[in-house]
Amino acid sequence: MDNCPSCDTSTGVRHSEHCDVARCSSCGGQRCDCGCVEGNGGIWTGEWPGKAECREYGLYAVLVPYKGWLRAKASDEGAIEDLNSLYAMGQSGVFVWNGVRWIRGRPIEVTDIVRVLGDSLSDEGVRQWLQAPSTYLDGSSPADALLAGQDLRVAEAARAFVEGPYL
Ligand SMILES: [Zn+2]
Ligand SMILES: [Zn+2]
Repeated sequence: MDNCPSCDTSTGVRHSEHCDVARCSSCGGQRCDCGCVEGNGGIWTGEWPGKAECREYGLYAVLVPYKGWLRAKASDEGAIEDLNSLYAMGQSGVFVWNGVRWIRGRPIEVTDIVRVLGDSLSDEGVRQWLQAPSTYLDGSSPADALLAGQDLRVAEAARAFVEGPYL
């Protein structure tokens, strides 16, 4: 496997002191400027920190001309691991840093979804969105997908909706 692109340490070895790829073992942020007194920069696993979690939780994005990065499914052409989604959901407690990696924290509730959609849709629009079959959810409605425990997919679908038509 490749060495760390920043500090050039090899796989399984601790990052050097000021490596900007290293994640803080204490907070999960960028070690070189997180400001924590405790913790360390951890080891280089052979790939960018957080990518494995994105794959595990199905967080992907594609770069769409004139639109930027949009939510995507793993099977979409050009889809890559969506680190921004991972970090954003980490901020809101959906993921929790365990010192080495991000693990699932609190579940995403309907109220979270409503908050995402609220700027774009009326209350009635939100209700309809929750009940309508979604291609993003392989034909399930967001309401059914939430009941089935697919809260991350539903949150991604809501963000995809707000960002613009999902391709
Ligand atoms: Zn490094
Ligand atoms: Zn820190």
